[in-house]
Amino acid sequence: MVKQKRFETEVIHNGYDSMLHEGSLVPPLFQTSTFTFPTAEEGEKRFAGETEGYIYSRLGNPTVRVLEERIAALEKGEMALAFGSGMAAVSATLFYLTKTGDHILCSEGIYGCTFGLLQLMENKHQISHDLINFSNEETVRSAIQDNTTCIYIETPINPTMKLVDLEMIVQIAKEKGIPVVVDNTFCSPYLQQPLTLGCDYVIHSATKYIGGHGDVIAGLVVGRKEELSEMMMTTLKDIGGIISPFDAWLLIRGLKTLPVRLDRHCENATKIANQLKKHPKVKMMYFPGDPDFPQYELAKRQMKHPGGMISFEIDGTKEEAQQFLNHCQLIKIAVSLGDSETLIQHPATMTHAVVPEEERIKMGITNQLIRLSVGLEAWEDIWEDLKQALDQL
Ligand code: PLP
Repeated sequence: MVKQKRFETEVIHNGYDSMLHEGSLVPPLFQTSTFTFPTAEEGEKRFAGETEGYIYSRLGNPTVRVLEERIAALEKGEMALAFGSGMAAVSATLFYLTKTGDHILCSEGIYGCTFGLLQLMENKHQISHDLINFSNEETVRSAIQDNTTCIYIETPINPTMKLVDLEMIVQIAKEKGIPVVVDNTFCSPYLQQPLTLGCDYVIHSATKYIGGHGDVIAGLVVGRKEELSEMMMTTLKDIGGIISPFDAWLLIRGLKTLPVRLDRHCENATKIANQLKKHPKVKMMYFPGDPDFPQYELAKRQMKHPGGMISFEIDGTKEEAQQFLNHCQLIKIAVSLGDSETLIQHPATMTHAVVPEEERIKMGITNQLIRLSVGLEAWEDIWEDLKQALDQL
């Protein structure tokens, strides 16, 4: 068995041997929909699974395979599947793990479209869910039902930045035999590896830190070979939310600089958070690297660095929150995160607008809450822009 190298090496080399590809340093882009068979008999054997080889790009593609092998290694999983979006990865996983009559237990405060998907599953397929606060062991235990077939977690939670103690959840889930799915988008495997803590599936919106350049929409799922192979032949192949080979190629390129980029994202975010919390117009700030963050100790234990995301509440109204965004000049008003550019958004009216107001406020997504994805620019320039926008309030 080939010994795995360090993370910073694996992001560049894992899953690819240039000598098998004419010496091409970079994995080739197999931009093809289908693969030719030398004979009809060979085609029959491939369909029967008797010989190895590609058939059709919805069933597998060599460029996509490099990405899948690499992310599986980085997350310390046995196998990975790539999808055309983070939501395609989320929906394929949730539909794989549930059937009509089942129940999903979710962390309170999740990405708005995941919330929308859960509503759809409940309304159309009678797959119920509960969104609960995962900070208390007893609350989690008592929320598990006989028909709970999946525990679904984001940590940090988008956009409140609350953390879930994965080791605590895994302990409960193992006792009950319920698989744990973690959306690891905010961390990437560089900051947090849920499978090593006993979780069963990791999901990524690869659109974010993994791509890192704001030019791809994609998703990934990592887990054990047995289950992922089944997903590949069902909720990936038959629902069909596959990634394009070109997007997989862009992600392979993005992944190479993941640790370098994230070090800088985290460093910049820490410096910005230190300034933000001192500004009189900032009422509350939520950043796992802030010593006053209520789950600071958990963040230190569970995450390598605090991440590049900061949420904060301004001292003002919803309209003032919007004005604040409008005053930003260098910082762009946009959803998404993990890009080189610093992005700012207003979750109540943007990413979480689909969540009914009462539920949204209960989750901590107030009208004053702002989410900042700290980019790779000079931190002083990011801060100067934020400060002048805050000073105008
Ligand atoms: N999960 C999280 C935490 C997200 O923030 C997002 C998108 O913002 C998604 C999943 C969905 O990913 P995508 O937009 O790639 O479909």
